[in-house]
Amino acid sequence: MIRVRQLKIRLDESLLDALAKKLKIKKEEIISVDIIKESIDSRKKPDIYLVYEVLVNLKDESKIKFDNDIFISSKAKYTYIPKGNIKLDKRPIIIGAGPSGLFAAYMLCLNGFKPIIVERGKKVEERIIDVNTFFEKGILNEEDNVTFGEGGAGTFSDGKLNTMIKDKENRITFVLETFHKFGAPKEILYEAKPHIGTDLLINIIKSMREEIIKLGGEFRFNTCLKDLVISNGRIEKVLLNDYYVDTDILILGIGHSAHDTFHMLNKYLKMEAKPFALGVRIQHNQKMIDESQYGRVIEKLGPASYKLTYQTKSGRGVYTFCMCPGGYVVNSSTKEGYLSINGMSNYKRDTSNANSAIIVTVSPKDFGTNPLDGLNFQKSLEKKAYDIGNGLIPTQLYKDFKENRKSEKFGSVNPVFKGGYTFQDINLILPEYICDALKEGIGAFGKKIEGFSNDDAIISAIESRTSSPVKILRDDEFESIKGIYPIGEGAGYAGGITSAACDGIKVSEKIMDKYKI
Ligand SMILES: Cc1cc2nc3c(=O)[nH]c(=O)nc-3n(C[C@H](O)[C@H](O)[C@H](O)COP(=O)(O)OP(=O)(O)OC[C@H]3O[C@@H](n4cnc5c(N)ncnc54)[C@H](O)[C@@H]3O)c2cc1C
Repeated sequence: MIRVRQLKIRLDESLLDALAKKLKIKKEEIISVDIIKESIDSRKKPDIYLVYEVLVNLKDESKIKFDNDIFISSKAKYTYIPKGNIKLDKRPIIIGAGPSGLFAAYMLCLNGFKPIIVERGKKVEERIIDVNTFFEKGILNEEDNVTFGEGGAGTFSDGKLNTMIKDKENRITFVLETFHKFGAPKEILYEAKPHIGTDLLINIIKSMREEIIKLGGEFRFNTCLKDLVISNGRIEKVLLNDYYVDTDILILGIGHSAHDTFHMLNKYLKMEAKPFALGVRIQHNQKMIDESQYGRVIEKLGPASYKLTYQTKSGRGVYTFCMCPGGYVVNSSTKEGYLSINGMSNYKRDTSNANSAIIVTVSPKDFGTNPLDGLNFQKSLEKKAYDIGNGLIPTQLYKDFKENRKSEKFGSVNPVFKGGYTFQDINLILPEYICDALKEGIGAFGKKIEGFSNDDAIISAIESRTSSPVKILRDDEFESIKGIYPIGEGAGYAGGITSAACDGIKVSEKIMDKYKI
């Protein structure tokens, strides 16, 4: 097959025509085209291009002139062959049915292992009911919510799948192909910024569970890991709700919101505080973002996204994170008395607003170096956010945030929330150094995207669960102590759906390099 890179076409041009032109052949010579990557180049507005990388099958390759962008190549493929030889008598136990736990389970099942997957929340069909009850009535189920439950924190999300991790083993390809196999649209296989959306993710997670069960896996929902029994430096049993189960392999894919579980694990495992970031979420009219990014609204391209970074005069990083075009700002709290928010969207990304987290880096220098200091810092701010608005999302216009006063009404941006909100002064929630950095950062972003720092932009607090404030240490065998494998975002080894899934795969490979069934 021939790989063609940097195939740049206008929005009204046909891919086949442009490909034939680039290869200097007739269109009829092309047997098939497989899109590997599609990205948008809007640097020279108003001219906007789609840029493709494709694999093409031709009737006759002999006429082709090869160069740096046209060469013989094959499709990236993920392969793994287990080579373990230590017989495993007990079933591996995976804690958490988020992307890291689910992909670890799927990999193990594909290779004949039959893990037990333990999830404190409910299966996704039942989880939707609890989540909607919380959004509509404010009644929180502390075990089953936007963050806990089957599918993990990424289920009620934008389902963005892009990641910056290095991947010479092609695990990302496997993750995307698996999502596609279970119902995600084929575009995720090649778009530069693939996304699934909450509405589709719910069914994908359900299909994945059904396949895992078919392959011998077992799910235990409404079941929480409460304690460990360690004997001679290795895992012997786990306490699930109120009963013990023996195991030699415990995979911890607990995410970064299970504060109770971190406190329990801190008694047994080596953990350390790590830098993370927190701040607010900002909403603008999506139309304004489209006009800034593309010069106009272009239906074919869908709503535009952005990614912005800034360093304050004092050296603190401020950046946008988890930008959700056409999305909702959601109340993603997990505990009564504490409030945190995030962003989500459906596959069509069709609300009127673009939203994004704007967060400021914080490190153990700000909150202390004991393993759980970052967690406690995060919690103290979430408590303030809850208290000030009595559980509703504290919200303010950007102009009023700058002037330290409560807003009274919205301006040109209509708010799009899942969960109730209240006008409050966010300066009273976040430390002054974070508010100052946010004001400086948002002001600077206004120079990159016209209208970004408009008075009417809506900001809400507190965006505190961006990445884990703690790391569970693991050795070269990915073990924390013998038989315990921390994975994914909560353990500090991933920062999103795809990287968490890849970490789950990587660790399950390591287990299967050693053990057989
Ligand atoms: C609203 C929202 C939107 C997001 N949007 C995106 C996005 O668009 N793209 C992206 O890449 N990332 C997004 N993220 C982040 C992403 O969801 C996480 O990076 C990812 O889910 C981490 O996967 P994980 O498997 O490590 O942990 P999680 O997904 O957090 O899963 C951990 C699971 O463990 C369970 N658990 C915890 N403790 C226990 C226990 N003691 N016993 C039993 N079960 C337990 C939890 O209930 C949970 O289901 C978003 C997050 C949120 C909250």
